[in-house]
Amino acid sequence: KRLILVGPPGSGKGTQSPIIKDEFCLCHLATGELVSDDLVVGIIDDALKKPSCQKGFILDGFPRTVVQAQKLDEMLDKRGVKVDKVLNFAIDDAILEERITGRWIHPSSGRTYHTKFAPPKVPGNWRALIQRKDDTAAVLKSRLEAFHKQTEPVIDYYKKKGIVANLPAEKPPQEVTSEVKKVLS
Ligand code: ADP
Ligand code: ADP
Repeated sequence: KRLILVGPPGSGKGTQSPIIKDEFCLCHLATGELVSDDLVVGIIDDALKKPSCQKGFILDGFPRTVVQAQKLDEMLDKRGVKVDKVLNFAIDDAILEERITGRWIHPSSGRTYHTKFAPPKVPGNWRALIQRKDDTAAVLKSRLEAFHKQTEPVIDYYKKKGIVANLPAEKPPQEVTSEVKKVLS
């Protein structure tokens, strides 16, 4: 399967992506760097040659703009493949501040925790967690503005292709996971 996860910061993409990746043996292509669109598409193009990517891939955080979506499609076209599903993490902005300000990351594994919604099972493990310095209410506001302006049109772009599945991202993680499995089965 070839999947794209789209949603605002804090909507649960990073929480669901390892689960989806393992369930469907996909390769996870993370593209959180500020490099040119062509470079990112080139990196994805190279990655698709790898044996681990032959069953498909998950893109999380890309494309962020319609231009990026078009460039991705051009590249996939040349390979004779296309995106199967775009999972839209639909959620009200009002929920995101608590999600973002309570987020803690385990740097070496990339796993994500939350003070209230997903605390580590062993209390001593808090010591290994860090907070992202942009995970503040003020920075969230500007990230959300960018999301609405630049990334929401990406959802419409894929809606026209009929491949968007809306997820109830405000529900508990397990419920989001079961909806994902339903959509992809
Ligand atoms: P994204 O990758 O979309 O920015 P994350 O997966 O990092 O979002 O989730 C943001 C924060 O919210 C994390 O602290 C995570 O543990 C928590 N979280 C993720 N999904 C849910 C959920 N369905 N319900 C409650 N909290 C969640
Ligand atoms: P978030 O968790 O807020 O979705 P990421 O960790 O994916 O953010 O990326 C951090 C920052 O890098 C973003 O706020 C954005 O400014 C930038 N960025 C990441 N991916 C892209 C992209 N594909 N195009 C443009 N900017 C990007």
